This record gives sequence, C-alpha cells and structure tokens, in this order.
Amino acid sequence: MSLIGQSATVVGAGVAGLAVARALALHGAQVTVLEKADAIREVGAGLQISPNGACVLRALGLQAALDAASIRAEAVQLIDGPTGETVTRLDLARLRPGQGYHFLHRADLIALLLSAAQEAGVTLRLLSRVESVVLSGPRPVVVLDGGERIETPLLIGADGLHSQIRAALNGPGTPFFTRQVAWRAVLPCEPGAAPVAEVHMGPGRHLVSYPLRAGALRNIVAVEERAKWAEESWTLRDDPMDLRLAFAGFSPRVRAWLDRVEDPWLWGLFRHRLAETWVRPMGQGGVAILGDAAHPTLPFLAQGASMGLEDAWVLADSLARHDTPAGALAAYQAARRPRTARIVAAANANARAYHLSGLPRLIGHAGLRLFGRLSPGAMLARFDWLYGHDVTQSTP
Ligand SMILES: Cc1cc2nc3c(=O)[nH]c(=O)nc-3n(C[C@H](O)[C@H](O)[C@H](O)COP(=O)(O)OP(=O)(O)OC[C@H]3O[C@@H](n4cnc5c(N)ncnc54)[C@H](O)[C@@H]3O)c2cc1C
Repeated sequence: MSLIGQSATVVGAGVAGLAVARALALHGAQVTVLEKADAIREVGAGLQISPNGACVLRALGLQAALDAASIRAEAVQLIDGPTGETVTRLDLARLRPGQGYHFLHRADLIALLLSAAQEAGVTLRLLSRVESVVLSGPRPVVVLDGGERIETPLLIGADGLHSQIRAALNGPGTPFFTRQVAWRAVLPCEPGAAPVAEVHMGPGRHLVSYPLRAGALRNIVAVEERAKWAEESWTLRDDPMDLRLAFAGFSPRVRAWLDRVEDPWLWGLFRHRLAETWVRPMGQGGVAILGDAAHPTLPFLAQGASMGLEDAWVLADSLARHDTPAGALAAYQAARRPRTARIVAAANANARAYHLSGLPRLIGHAGLRLFGRLSPGAMLARFDWLYGHDVTQSTP
C-alpha cells in the first residue's frame, strides 16, 4: 500500500521509535512521535551496534553519521576475570567487508536518529505521555496524561520495557527478577585503548567494557547474581563501593577501572515474556509494537538496539510493500517474532555461560580456548545467523 500522506503515530522516541519514524517518513508518511520526557537528554551509556543493526542505519542513509559517532570494533575478547588471562577472542576484523561492528554512546545514537527523523519531516511531541490506549473503535486512540485523545490510523508502540501498547494488545505481563543486577558507568578512558569489547568472566558475575567517543570514554557494565531485589529502572544510582566489593576478586586491570567509578547506575535485570501479539489490523491501518516493547531482552548479547533497528526497517518496508495493512502487519510479525525469540534465548544462555563456577568453568574455558586456537574463523561463523542477517536485503 502507498504510505504517501498516510498519518502514523509512534509512541516513544527511543532507538526503535525514531528509526521507524524515519523509515516511514522516507516512504512518504506523515509521522508524529509522542515522547513522555520533557527533553531528549543524555542518559544511558554505551551501546553496541552489530552488523545486523548497522545495515539498517546504512539503508536509512545514516552510514556517515554512524561512522562519525562511533568506534569501529576490532574484537570481542573473553577473559578469565580473576586471572586476567584471555580465554578466547572473536576477531571482528574477519567480518565480511561492509559489515561494521560499532561501539557508541546511546545518547549519540539517539541524537543522530532524532535529527535524521526530523530531517525526513517527522514531528516530535515532548511531554506527551500515553496513559491509555483504546482499541475498541474503528481506529486506534491514545489518551495522553492531560486527557487529550489522539485518534490515528496507524499506531506504533515503541514505548520500551513497560509498553502501554503491548499491554493493550496482550494484557498485563508479570516480569520476574532474574536475581541479577547490573551496574553501568562511563569513565575517562586510558589513552590508546584498543577498540575491543572485553568480557571479564567470574563465578556468579561478569563485567563488559569497551571504549567510546574516539577513545575518550570507557563504558562499563558489570553484572552480579544476587538474591536482593533491585528496581527495573535505568535511573537508579548506587554506592561505587558496592561495585568494587562485588569485583574485588578480579584482575588489577578491572579493579583499577572500578576504583575510578564515581557514580554508577544500578538496575535490576528482569525477564519479560516475548509478546504473543505484536499487531492488530484495524480499518485502513492498525497497531504494531517493536523494540523492547515487543521483545525485552537481557543485555548479554548486546542486541537491544540492533533488534529495534531491524524491527523498524521490516515494519516500514512491510507496510510499504503489501496491498493491505492486514497483510503487512501479519508479514511483519511472522518475519520478526521467531528471530527475536532466538536472540533473546541466546542472550539468556550467555548469562549462564559467563557465570560458571567450579569444574564446569574449567571445562568451559578450556573448550573455548581450544576451539578459538584451532579454528578462529569458526568462532565467528557461529554468529553468522545473528550478525550476517541483513533485513534490508530480504522481503517480509
Ligand atoms: C534511559 C535509557 C538508557 C538505556 N541505556 C542503555 C545502555 O546503557 N545500554 C544498553 O544496551 N541499552 C540501554 N538502553 C536500552 C536500549 O536503548 C534499548 O534496549 C534499545 O535501544 C531498544 O530501544 P526501544 O526504542 O525499543 O526502547 P527504549 O530505548 O526504552 O525507548 C522507549 C522510549 O519510549 C518512551 N516512553 C515510554 N513509555 C511512554 C509513554 N507511555 N508515553 C510516551 N513515551 C513513552 C521512553 O521515554 C523512551 O524514550 C537504555 C534505555 C533507556 C530508556
């Protein structure tokens, strides 16, 4: 169907919302993004954009902006946390030409997507919190916190973990605490740091770190298993001593980073079920969800942002390609749900592998060392299904 002149309302100005807004606007749609915040400000820390996400940014005309804002990653290195010895290395330089793997600040990705969306004609409305969603009439309606009702032919829910639109399509969900918490911090980086994501693994805990912003900053995400509950929020602070104590048994390199952390963020890691229903056709349009609203994931495969970018491309492309909204929305869900389910499951499995202790840890690390030494190319080939998938080259 033609999207030229078609109105669409996107809820949420995160990675997924801004990307789908630009993609729809490039197809000719008139897009408004509703965002509850009063400003798009610097929050969050580092993000990894793997080749499967980067190809969407390229197809949206944003390759140069991505290159300017990010560091091109060379490798992912798995390291024994306590000894500091390398277990194995995933050499990203072996990726096919054009398959870039990037590290960047979340705020920089949001800034580049926002200006790209606005340049394509998208309208951003701040201070517009969606309080409720009505799907009983002929067209979707959202109600803002001030009481304003907005009726729209096409409603797109990119409203993150606690999505109102997901709840309207699926009913309320009950996430459960995974007994893992994560600290995030950004600190000045030591000069000359290699563009490598280091994963330091220890019993019941691991820490991921990589440089950002042309090597000026270092991003840290540290995960610990614990029984005590922590809030599922991106904006909770913690005492840096708690973080240092949790990783006191790690190598001097890690401890030196943590000594310099001043004000870490803490967040509780919760598991949510993948949404069953992502779409509902209604009249000449309908409703769809994408990004964290559809498939919240644990961060252990660094795919939150890349999955949102993939969704954004497929949803806009599917709407533009199919004759009817019903066909387009069904094709979108069919293309995306199985893939995102696989990625979320792989992220869950990584938590277990990183946190091994005792004999399983010795065996696991020895196996990885051997495999990495005998067949370094095969290590990367194991991720072909993930990084080699280019949604801009397939038809939903
Ligand atoms: C503040 C913040 C910091 C983050 N930091 C990191 C990080 O350091 N590392 C990492 O890997 N991932 C981080 N993430 C998650 C990562 O950005 C997402 O997994 C990924 O980008 C998918 O994004 P999304 O657009 O689906 O959801 P999100 O990025 O969560 O965006 C959702 C947007 O919707 C808005 N919104 C929510 N509810 C409503 C409502 N009712 N009405 C209007 N607007 C609404 C939110 O304000 C937000 O802007 C962060 C997310 C947030 C929000």
